[in-house]
Amino acid sequence: MECNQKKNLANCSCSYPGCPRKGICCECVAYHLVKSQLPACYFDKESEKSFDRSIKKFLEKKV
Ligand code: SF4
Repeated sequence: MECNQKKNLANCSCSYPGCPRKGICCECVAYHLVKSQLPACYFDKESEKSFDRSIKKFLEKKV
């Protein structure tokens, strides 16, 4: 199976500069999962800019 990095990049909302995992969603999810975090695409635009990928940050906007 080919990687859809190019296609995924068109929808990637991550603004963190220089990350080698951008558009490689499987690596992105795995990277954050081991830290009990979520990828950038789970956050709204404002929250994403904080680079705080914690579940706590994610829930701030949900409750
Ligand atoms: S969410 Fe994290 S791993 Fe994914 S592209 Fe952004 S900085 Fe990289």
